[in-house]
Amino acid sequence: HPAFDAYVVRRDFPILQEQVNGRPLIWLDNAATTQKPQAVIDRLTYFYQHENSNIHRAAHELAARATDAYEAARDKVARFLHASSSDEIIFLRGTTEAINLVAQSWGRRHIGPGDEIVITWLEHHANIVPWQLLAAEKGARLRVAPVDDRGQVRLDEYEKLLGPRTRLVAFSQVSNALGTITPAREMVAMAHRYGARVLVDGAQAVSHMRVDVQELDADWYVFSGHKVFGPTGIGVLYGKLDLLNAMPVWQGGGNMIQDVTFERTIYQAAPARFEAGTGNIADAVGLGAALDYVEKIGMENISRYEHELLVYATEKLSAIPGLRLIGTAPEKAGVLSFVIDGFRNEDIGDALNREGIAVRTGHHCAQPILRRFGLESTVRPSLAFYNTCEDIDALVATLWRIRTGRYGLQH
Ligand code: PMP
Repeated sequence: HPAFDAYVVRRDFPILQEQVNGRPLIWLDNAATTQKPQAVIDRLTYFYQHENSNIHRAAHELAARATDAYEAARDKVARFLHASSSDEIIFLRGTTEAINLVAQSWGRRHIGPGDEIVITWLEHHANIVPWQLLAAEKGARLRVAPVDDRGQVRLDEYEKLLGPRTRLVAFSQVSNALGTITPAREMVAMAHRYGARVLVDGAQAVSHMRVDVQELDADWYVFSGHKVFGPTGIGVLYGKLDLLNAMPVWQGGGNMIQDVTFERTIYQAAPARFEAGTGNIADAVGLGAALDYVEKIGMENISRYEHELLVYATEKLSAIPGLRLIGTAPEKAGVLSFVIDGFRNEDIGDALNREGIAVRTGHHCAQPILRRFGLESTVRPSLAFYNTCEDIDALVATLWRIRTGRYGLQH
C-alpha cells in the first residue's frame, strides 16, 4: 500500500532499534503494551520543559499552558472515540480503574439483590473481578455468555441470558487472550432491548480498529493509553453525558467539587466530577500525542495492514506440526495464541527470548477462557502496525527449530 509502509513507520519507534541478547528486538507483545513513537516521548519532554504546572487552579502562565495541553488531549480522545462531547471523556489510570469506577459508582447504586450482571467467557480479569465484588456485596448474580470452539461469543446463548433482571452487560470488543472481535454493536443493541446498561472494554480494540462510541451506542467505553502507543498510567472512561452526571461521585477531593462546607459538598459536572485530586497531566498530554500519531498514519491503513499480517502469520504458524492455534474466529485482531504438543510454553518463551523475540506466555489475565480450551496458559505473539512479515518469519523459523529439537526442549 503506497499510503502505508511498516518499514518507514518503524523508524518512529526508537526502542525497535534495541538489541536483546545480541539480536535485534522483535516486539510481539503488543497486547501487553505497545511501544512509543518518538513523537510521544518528545511530547512528554516538551511538557516538562515548557508547560509543567498543576492545572485549573493558578493564575499564572504555566498553569494556563498545562491546562490547555491537558484539555486539548481530552478533545483528541473525544474525536478519536467519536464521542459527542469532550465532557464525556474522563482521564483515569487505565482500563482497570475505569471499570472499577463504573462498578463502584453506578453499580453500587443500581445493582441490588437478585439483579443480574452479564459478561462473556472472553473477559480479562479486569472485566470479571470488579463485577464479582459488586455482585457479592449486593447479592446480585454474575452470568457468563459462553463461546464456541473458535472463540466466538454464542449470540443465541447470550440472548438467553438477557432478561428483566439484567441491569448491566460488560464485554470486550477484542479479546486479549484469543484476539476475537465481538459483534459489539449487535450485543449492545440486544442488551438495550432489555433495558440494561452496557460497558464495552476497548483495551485491545483501540490500537487495531476505528472506534465510534455513538455508533456502538455503548453507555461506557474504556481503554488504556499504553495499549495505543501512549504512556502508562493514563486511561479513559467514556460515558454518555447524562449518565455520567447522574452517577454518584466516586473519590472525593480537590478538583471534583464546586463548593465545600463542613455540612455538605456540591460536586462538579463531568468530567471534573470523576477527576479528584491531581491527575496524570503529562501522560494525558502524551496520550493526546499518541492519538495524533495514529490519526496521521490512519486507522484504515493500520487495520488493513494488520489484517494481512494476521492472515500471513496464521498460515505460517498453522503449518508447524503439533502447533494448535487457540481462537480461530473469522473476525480477529492482533493476537495469535497457541500451544505446541510436547513443549512447555515457558520453554518456548525462553527460546524465543534468546533470539530477541518478545512474546507473552501465561494465562494473560484471562484464566476462564483458557480453561474453556483445557489450558492453563498459551504462547501469545501479538501484533502492531510496526511488525513486519520478517518478524513473523523470525518467529516461525525459531518455532520450527524448537519443533525439530534443535533447542533440546521436548519433554
Ligand atoms: N481488558 C483487556 C481486554 C485487556 O487486554 C487489559 C490489559 N491486558 C485490561 C482490560 C486491563 O488494562 P490495564 O491493565 O491497562 O488496566
